Amino acid sequence: MGTRKEGPAARAGADAPRRPANDGEEKRAGITRREVVLGVGGTVALFGIGAASKAFAGEAVLRPPGGQDEDDLLSKCLRCQKCTEACPREAIVPVGLEGGFLSMRTPTMDYHAGDCDYCADENGERPLCVAACPTGALKLSAIATRRSTVIGEPLLVKDWCLAYRLTHCRDCYNACPLDAIELDDAERPHIVWDNCNGCGECEHACKSMTAGTPVPGATHRAIIIVPVGQGGEVNA
Ligand code: SF4
Ligand code: SF4
Ligand code: SF4
Repeated sequence: MGTRKEGPAARAGADAPRRPANDGEEKRAGITRREVVLGVGGTVALFGIGAASKAFAGEAVLRPPGGQDEDDLLSKCLRCQKCTEACPREAIVPVGLEGGFLSMRTPTMDYHAGDCDYCADENGERPLCVAACPTGALKLSAIATRRSTVIGEPLLVKDWCLAYRLTHCRDCYNACPLDAIELDDAERPHIVWDNCNGCGECEHACKSMTAGTPVPGATHRAIIIVPVGQGGEVNA
């Protein structure tokens, strides 16, 4: 069972429900009820509408700094890729077809390719992606800072973490620039939620699932950054 402390979602006032562990079971139960009410034909129609709307809207997307108001970003983004071109750490990529029609070619973060230091090294913590955006689809208030700009939050899958598998690793701890990872007495990482801004340096550094460190059953690195409300410390 996952645990989640007070984190960026709460700080931002966002509603951050945790997906129930038996989500799949609940969905199956829901389908059965609909089958009773609507009959098989109605169920097939519902599946069609659901699949179409999902393809249209897609899943929640991890946005660059200043792009966290999803409706605003979708209405203003020209899909011009200027933010992608501006990012000195190559952390911004366009959303592909899999992100749904609405989000296609809008910006998302790829923390395997790079991470976000808020342009600290390159531009004195003044985000170049925001400056490059011609429409304000990425925008920050004048008082926004690296710590106050929450891009996303970590999802730590403990069963896939090398430190939890008794293989010494503290790469995420070493990489975190904001003291948002602490180690317990067994040297296993935990998130310090109030310090994390979702910069992705931990995901970029994490060596689980990279060359030479496959983890049976794992589908991604042990620590990844996900949209606010989807993070946590969980078991597989
Ligand atoms: S703030 Fe800088 S490093 Fe971060 S995504 Fe924008 S351009 Fe890239
Ligand atoms: S390195 Fe990871 S834990 Fe640290 S601030 Fe960045 S996203 Fe958060
Ligand atoms: S870098 Fe990855 S594998 Fe290593 S301790 Fe951190 S989460 Fe675990």
